[in-house]
Amino acid sequence: MHYHIWTLGCQMNTADSQLLASELEKRGHRAVEDWQQADIWVINTCVVRQSAEDKAYGRLNQLNALKKKDPTKIIGLMGCLVGVRDPLRLRRKLPYVDVFMPPSEPEAMLAFLDDRGAEADALAVEAAARAMRDAIQDEEFHFIEPQPGTPAVVSRDYAGGMGHAGGDLILPLHERGTLVSAHVPVVYGCSHACTYCIIPFRRGIERSRPVGEIVAHVRSLARQGVKEITLLGQIVDRYGKDIPDGPDLADLLHIVHEIAEEEGIARIRFLTSHPNWMTDRLLDTVAALPRVMPHIEVPNQAGDDDVLENMKRGYTIEAYRRLIHRIRERIPGVAIHTDIIVGFSGETAEQFQRTYDVLAELKLDKAHIAKYSPRPHTVSQRRMDDDVTPEEKERRRKALDDLQQQIVAEINARYLGETVEVLVEERHKGKWRGRTPQNKLVFFESDRNLLGELVNVEITWTGPWSMQGRLPGSVEADPVTIIPISAQP
Ligand code: SAM
Repeated sequence: MHYHIWTLGCQMNTADSQLLASELEKRGHRAVEDWQQADIWVINTCVVRQSAEDKAYGRLNQLNALKKKDPTKIIGLMGCLVGVRDPLRLRRKLPYVDVFMPPSEPEAMLAFLDDRGAEADALAVEAAARAMRDAIQDEEFHFIEPQPGTPAVVSRDYAGGMGHAGGDLILPLHERGTLVSAHVPVVYGCSHACTYCIIPFRRGIERSRPVGEIVAHVRSLARQGVKEITLLGQIVDRYGKDIPDGPDLADLLHIVHEIAEEEGIARIRFLTSHPNWMTDRLLDTVAALPRVMPHIEVPNQAGDDDVLENMKRGYTIEAYRRLIHRIRERIPGVAIHTDIIVGFSGETAEQFQRTYDVLAELKLDKAHIAKYSPRPHTVSQRRMDDDVTPEEKERRRKALDDLQQQIVAEINARYLGETVEVLVEERHKGKWRGRTPQNKLVFFESDRNLLGELVNVEITWTGPWSMQGRLPGSVEADPVTIIPISAQP
């Protein structure tokens, strides 16, 4: 059968969709870009803000109408809208949805397909799986240029699935050999108690993934051509804290770094951190391991101590400030990203101004700015008033956005004339697009197929959201073609 997955929300959802896709591929199902051609539709949902939830319901309504015309279509709902408890109320509300899958748990869809008799004979699947695994291990992958409008293919036509549990992941056919950067979850769930956050309700308590499973996941991605992996967790630096005498994130980085050297993975990143769990040992590990990129994502959320207290973040703004200095001291050339919520319950104009001032002072490389959205069952929704008007929230968001745009434009301008190392991720509107170690987007021209390559690029133009450059020795840099991309790629 053909399947199509819509992924809303965070990188963890991207990784979860990849996991589901992998399990479907192993069973012989195939991804299609044109969703109308799919037999199986899956929406992987986010509920972190009301707007994300609304998007999921919009798509569900559309699919419901189509399923009325063609009842053979299978609709799956995955992720935080489903949550970790039995979604009884959701089942009643959405009777046309065939399968409900909690975050990171695709099993219900696989069982459903089994029951429908849609599965191939188990032995045949296993044989195909073994063949696939051998093929991946034996064969060298070659990148080939993706053709416009058609899914890219790899140098070898693989048939059948890998059919192997324990961390191995198989990419959909069109991504094998062409996907350069992939996410690997290392901590599921979250046990923090930020008063505004729905994630612990929907993704369950914090659970670290066993090292062996992570290693298998990373190796399998490398053998399908992936060159950069990002280790994921809601609070990724909590890795291992739930395993007695277990490894911590610094240990895990060492282990993954070794695998990267063996398997040809060029870059390792991790996100998202929490200010209270960033140890010096972790920072020194990032600085010491050459394949771990100088890029830290550590949310601040607010620049006022009372607001931080109301959010139950567990640190003061002075501690956050000290942390930023510590990160900069220990990791040369580091880029730091943050998350900010504006218009939290009770946030006054003065308190907001402090957030503005902190952002202006710290000059971080990126800020994901969100307007506070009260989420069901959270402490802030039950016990605090959502008393900042939508217009005022928007005003605050825009003020921070404008400020941040100015800051990033200044930071990026320092790269003008510099040569930076770029990992080439894809072709976009006739140019190659890749990222620097600091995760900054760079566009440049070349007739060569550079997908998945590390190249040196001389920066010829900089803006707040991207930079342009040329390969040393080439003359074709085009400073007037500005590629419009959104602020949040
Ligand atoms: N765990 C990380 C941390 O230290 O906060 C970040 C993960 S969180 C799921 C992703 C981001 O969504 C948060 O950093 C926050 O800025 C935003 N977010 C979470 N709940 C929100 C809410 N109720 N309203 C607006 N934004 C929210």
